[in-house]
Amino acid sequence: MLNQEQWAKKDLEYIWHPCSQMKDYEHFLPIVIDHAKGTVLTDVNGKTYLDVVSSWWCNLLGHCNPIISRAVKNQLDQLEHVIFANFTHKPAIKLCEELAQIVPKGLCKFNFMDNGSASIEAAMKMSFQYHHQTGNPQKVKFMALSDAYHGETLGALGVGGVDLYSEMYKPLLLDTIRIPGPDCYRCPKNLNRETCQAECIDQAEHYFAQYANETAAMLVEPLLQGAAGMKIYPPIYLRKIRELCTRYQVHLIADEIATGFGRTGTMFACEQAEITPDIMCISKGLTGGYMPMAITITTQCIYDAFYADYLEGKAFMHSHTYSGNPLGCSAALAVLGLFAEEDILSQTKAKAPVFHQMVVEALSEHPNVGEIRTIGLINAIELVANKETKEALDSKNRTGYQIYKEALNRGLLLRPLGDVLYFNPPLTITEEEMKQAVAHCKAAITAILG
Ligand SMILES: *Cc1c(COP(=O)(O)O)cnc(C)c1O
Repeated sequence: MLNQEQWAKKDLEYIWHPCSQMKDYEHFLPIVIDHAKGTVLTDVNGKTYLDVVSSWWCNLLGHCNPIISRAVKNQLDQLEHVIFANFTHKPAIKLCEELAQIVPKGLCKFNFMDNGSASIEAAMKMSFQYHHQTGNPQKVKFMALSDAYHGETLGALGVGGVDLYSEMYKPLLLDTIRIPGPDCYRCPKNLNRETCQAECIDQAEHYFAQYANETAAMLVEPLLQGAAGMKIYPPIYLRKIRELCTRYQVHLIADEIATGFGRTGTMFACEQAEITPDIMCISKGLTGGYMPMAITITTQCIYDAFYADYLEGKAFMHSHTYSGNPLGCSAALAVLGLFAEEDILSQTKAKAPVFHQMVVEALSEHPNVGEIRTIGLINAIELVANKETKEALDSKNRTGYQIYKEALNRGLLLRPLGDVLYFNPPLTITEEEMKQAVAHCKAAITAILG
């Protein structure tokens, strides 16, 4: 039997890990996870880690949730996969029937993908083709917010605004109209996100007036810009973006990949702004983090623009081999079943203020904690060099990364976004686990920053 270190070295002979400078692994070996249960990961040496980032935001209802596992096992012996053009199956039909009841009103047609980036690209192609087929072929561009993240394939990266991921590939990317988005911690108008009326929408108004005629769609992450550093903005901003899109005949594409399924306290973040996007992308929590699956959901109106005799050439010719995979659908159905039977949303709403209070009590006094912001069970801690001026830490010091390693030693899996630490735990996290997580986080911050 190999131990953790031996497995890790074997890993490094072969595996090129995502989003990693592999040289970092020389001094910090990959952690070889043997099994997991609920919020806890256990490595091959038996050391445990609290997974408060939901393994990249996808694990929604705990690892190896017995109900979801059972559903997938049952499906596995029934039908593992089938071609999804001309063919279909009960899990996909039932899933869409159930989703149709809970997505924002008006969304009713479901196109299956196998990852979030693909669902964004499908949404962009759908919007572009819609305009082309309804007399607006000049609408070929996309608008997106500064610091947006919509995935990392070339099309999705082209609408993203986080330089860390896109800078290198600029020559390959779409020419996106970039709208300076809300920045509530460092509000340029010195307002407060609890009471403002999204006065910063004037930026978007300016860009819409100038570019809407050539724009097919605007993409947004509703209420929470995740990869940007868990930046949170108020629903009124989203409502105003919806109004601009309607006024200027620009589709609104809501990227609910990170925010969907209760992450912001409601099933979908769009609900808090009481809006319906023209296209909505969901993934991550959809299968509880069990299977790679995503869905691009749209309206009857958009669907109808593609519905014609074959020879008119209006079909949406987009496909992925694993579209509509039955195992993914069965996991998603189990997730929706749990939301209904165990009233996950009410539980989340009850837990959120308790967790936030713990984080605030433990960390708000620290001189390097600039802001603690929260939505749903998500709590983000932005570390700064100076609390008064909100001056950022020197990124060369990789403070977040140092804290990450320190926290791992203590059995906590944080994975900071630069110098923003955050918790985005499974919605099933217990109060005891929240306490432990906050205590380990505090200890790790103290160990690095004093
Ligand atoms: C994760 C994520 C994506 C990309 O999904 P992948 O499955 O990683 O391709 C897109 N948008 C948002 C908001 C995300 O959080």
